[in-house]
Amino acid sequence: MSILQISGVNKSFGGLRALSNVNLSVEEGSVHAVIGPNGAGKSTLLNCLVGRLIPDTGSVTFDGKSLVGLQPHQINQAGVGRVFQTPEIFGELSLIDNVLIPTLARRDGTFKANTIPRVDQQKEVNERALQMLEDVGLTSKRDMIANNLSRGDKRRLELAMCLVQRPKLLLLDEPTAGMSRADTNNTIDLLQRIVVGHVTMIIIEHDMHVVFSLAQRITVMAQGTPIVEGEPDSIKGDPRVQEAYLGG
Ligand code: ADP
Ligand code: MG
Repeated sequence: MSILQISGVNKSFGGLRALSNVNLSVEEGSVHAVIGPNGAGKSTLLNCLVGRLIPDTGSVTFDGKSLVGLQPHQINQAGVGRVFQTPEIFGELSLIDNVLIPTLARRDGTFKANTIPRVDQQKEVNERALQMLEDVGLTSKRDMIANNLSRGDKRRLELAMCLVQRPKLLLLDEPTAGMSRADTNNTIDLLQRIVVGHVTMIIIEHDMHVVFSLAQRITVMAQGTPIVEGEPDSIKGDPRVQEAYLGG
């Protein structure tokens, strides 16, 4: 069963057609990678899914609900979490505070004073945040200021901030960009341990080692449109994929 259906999505920036008739369906529980050369429209597509951009035409249906025109926080409330290329953490706050904030924000979609939980709920909120830090391997740094983290740890923190909200769909835009090989492998292990099989995931990724380690299905985009889709083994040998990369 598909949890996300994108149909006939177009998006232009002035005269530039960044997305051209995009159709994509994502199976619930799967890891679906979107790959393609620079400028193919991958980030634009993700931005259309999270409400940062509104498609010019077409539909996006998630879990039976149309997402087009919803505000980012409403899409988040519907169960779509994301970790994007620019870090979105509270740099001056401790790690535990960084995870507590989205835990609380989940309660009604926007972070307002009235989301502070009742005293009898606070233990549960704290425990959930601590468990999340544990899951991403950051427990020992819980009181550190987030700005002082390494780049890899910042990514792990963002992942924790996202997963603590228990999304049904997780969107990752190049989660290993700029990472060392060792950190990349740690990220693959982490995603395999706490995401794969638990949360449906769409991952945009340049690193083919990451793609082939995680994805069950791959869509290749070029010039704003999906050109090939299939299982990893069929994508590997497809001449159209090589051509897209060489031509791009
Ligand atoms: P990818 O993530 O696959 O590298 P993008 O989605 O970032 O590709 O970009 C697709 C095309 O749209 C590129 O030609 C890019 O320059 C253009 N583009 C992306 N965002 C904007 C924007 N906000 N304004 C104008 N052009 C944009
Ligand atoms: Mg991009």
